[in-house]
Amino acid sequence: MTKITIAIDGFSSTGKSTVAKRLAAELGYVYVDSGAMYRAVTLYAMQHGFIETDCFDKEGLISNLDHIKISFKFNPEKGFAEVYLNDENVEKNIRTLEVSKFVSQVATVSEVREQLVLQQQNFGKDKGVVMDGRDIGTVVFPDAELKIFMTASAEKRAKRRYDELRERGDEVCYEDVLHNVQTRDHIDSTREDSPLVMADDAIKVDNSNMSLEEQFEVVLELSEEKIKLQHKKKRH
Ligand code: C5P
Repeated sequence: MTKITIAIDGFSSTGKSTVAKRLAAELGYVYVDSGAMYRAVTLYAMQHGFIETDCFDKEGLISNLDHIKISFKFNPEKGFAEVYLNDENVEKNIRTLEVSKFVSQVATVSEVREQLVLQQQNFGKDKGVVMDGRDIGTVVFPDAELKIFMTASAEKRAKRRYDELRERGDEVCYEDVLHNVQTRDHIDSTREDSPLVMADDAIKVDNSNMSLEEQFEVVLELSEEKIKLQHKKKRH
C-alpha cells in the first residue's frame, strides 16, 4: 500500500505523542518524536554547563553541536523507539520538569533547529512516517499528505502532564506544570524561527473532551482516507 507522511503538530502536552505512537504502530510506520530531540539537546546543554538557573550560554551550545549525537532505538517491550543522546538512553531524563523549563529557549536557536530539521527530514525521506512536534507540517514536511493540528485547553493539558509526572514519581505541583505549559506555548508560538502555527492545510483536532480512544479513531480514519487517496493518485 502507498505510504504517506503524517505530521502532527500542536501545543504542549496535547497528547500528540500518545496518538502518534499508536497510529504509527497501527499503520506499520516509523514514529519520530521530534520534541524528544530538542529535549535531548537541552539535557546535553544542562549536563555540560551551558544552562544554569538564569543563564543560557547559547554560543557555547552552538559551538558544541557537533558533539551531540541523537538517535532512536526501538524498544520491543515498550513498542516504540526511545531516544539516545551520544549512545545513552535518555528517554526518562529528558521528560523532567527541569528539562521542560529550558527546552523552549533551546528550541529558539536557529543552529539547533537547522541540525535537527535535517535529521528529521532524513528520517522521513522514504515516507511511512508519523512525526509529532511544532513545525512538522510547516517546515519539516511542508508537503506531508496529512497534517493534523492538535489542541486542548491549557488546564486540561497541564492536568494530563501533571498526572504523567506524578505517576512516574516526580514531585511536582500542578501550578508549576500549568505555568510551564503556558510559558512554552508562548515562546513556541512567538519565536522568530519556525514558530508554532497551524499550517493552512492542517486539520484541527480539539481533544479537550475526547478520550484517547476517540482521538485515535479520528486520526486513524483521516490517515486511511489520505492513504487511499494517495494510492488512487499514484495509479492514475
Ligand atoms: O513535544 P514536546 O513537548 O516534548 O517538545 C518540547 C519542546 O521542544 C517544545 O515546547 C518546543 O519548544 C520544542 N519543539 C520544537 N519543535 C518541534 C518539537 C518540539 O520547537 N518540532
